[in-house]
Amino acid sequence: MAEIPEYVKKVLETLEAAGHEAWCVGGCVRDTLLGRVPEDWDVTTSAMPEETMAAFGQHAFPTGLQHGTVTVRADHNSVEVTTYRVDGTYHDHRRPDSVTFTRSLEEDLQRRDFTANAIAMSLRGELRDPFGGQEDLRNGVLRCVGYPDQRFQEDALRILRGLRFAAVLGFAIDPATGESIHRNKELLGEIAAERIQVELLKLLAGQNAAEVLRQYPDVVGVFWPEVLPMVGFDQKNVHHCYDVWEHTLHAVAAVPGDPVLRCAALLHDIGKPNCFTVDEKGVGHFYGHSAISRELADRMLRRLKCSTEFRETVVRLVDWHDRDIPRTDKAIRRALGKLGERDLRRLLALKRADNLAQAPEFHDRQRELDKGETIMEKLLAEDACFSLKQLAVNGKDLTEFGLSGPVVGQVLKKLLDAVVDGDLPNDRKELLSSVSRFVTDL
Ligand code: ATP
Ligand code: MG
Repeated sequence: MAEIPEYVKKVLETLEAAGHEAWCVGGCVRDTLLGRVPEDWDVTTSAMPEETMAAFGQHAFPTGLQHGTVTVRADHNSVEVTTYRVDGTYHDHRRPDSVTFTRSLEEDLQRRDFTANAIAMSLRGELRDPFGGQEDLRNGVLRCVGYPDQRFQEDALRILRGLRFAAVLGFAIDPATGESIHRNKELLGEIAAERIQVELLKLLAGQNAAEVLRQYPDVVGVFWPEVLPMVGFDQKNVHHCYDVWEHTLHAVAAVPGDPVLRCAALLHDIGKPNCFTVDEKGVGHFYGHSAISRELADRMLRRLKCSTEFRETVVRLVDWHDRDIPRTDKAIRRALGKLGERDLRRLLALKRADNLAQAPEFHDRQRELDKGETIMEKLLAEDACFSLKQLAVNGKDLTEFGLSGPVVGQVLKKLLDAVVDGDLPNDRKELLSSVSRFVTDL
């Protein structure tokens, strides 16, 4: 089992030396018991916040005193130290009306969301686990502490946290907890978009994201109702052995666990139900579905207040997902120029997944993708030019050549296009000798 890091041990020791109880708790204990590396370490203590402040002096920062949280700096790391706490009543399905500090560890563990997150570990590796968290960890089960309906009604974000932990840890959701999630899902409507976004993106990055989405499309539908028409939508097309939703889930499972790619896979066909037609032979078509998917994806990501960069990248991938696979030097240089290396790699991964999620007799498309990828690797290895940054001449060169004003930018663009298209080598002399030709063309 992984060890508690030295800096966390120091925090526990300091609290114990001052006569208090102190335990690691929550995600760090769960992850340690699972053999995973915790992201951060949280400590829970019998010390009142002012006692914690006193124990750490200048190393203590009152970052959330009303909830009993003090941030302690230890060996250039931060540890959140929170006083044992009981949450008061809840009225808005979001936050307790009040919190009360307590001297009982067990009471603190009882307010926590899932049994796997309600285990405490001491400096000496001793465990406190009043709700059977270790057994649930061993069995890979996610289960509420206490009555699920009550816990989800107190704080509806727990609904999505539950799906997130199931996806990330690869856990099965206990049936009573799962039924309660379906029953209480509408309460998510009261949760701030930003908080939903954080949990959803973590869920999507999880190893079991597709399986969790398969079981809980209704929950996603609370904030993204656009997803619901995909479920069970028959494509009536030989390329497809799955309905739109199953196809989508297979694509989600087949891309790496990068939130951008997972989100693009989830949304790439979101517009299909809106543009379905059946021809006289009874074959289904989805003409223009990329553009509709792009518009819907943009709206959905704005609704969750995703960052501009995240939204624009996902939307671009959705927009491009159905274009021909670039398989020539020229086409790949152009794609690199428009998307950049990172997003062209993502596009190829998305197209691979989209194809693998189609009927097996069409999987020979993978070979075309291999070819595109090989050319891309070759071009990148030889430092091929696809952006102005890489062009062998710059604005200053053109100014010295006697150009000024907007013409400079226009000529640079023409030169870059010529290099990307393979009509000119990326060579300073050659480029400068072509400048006058481009100026007369303008
Ligand atoms: P992560 O790996 O994302 O950090 P985590 O379990 O540590 O997962 P945090 O949000 O850091 O999650 O919360 C730390 C602990 O606080 C949780 O393990 C859980 O015990 C408790 N907790 C957090 N949010 C809630 C909540 N909404 N309701 C009840 N308990 C919560
Ligand atoms: Mg945590």
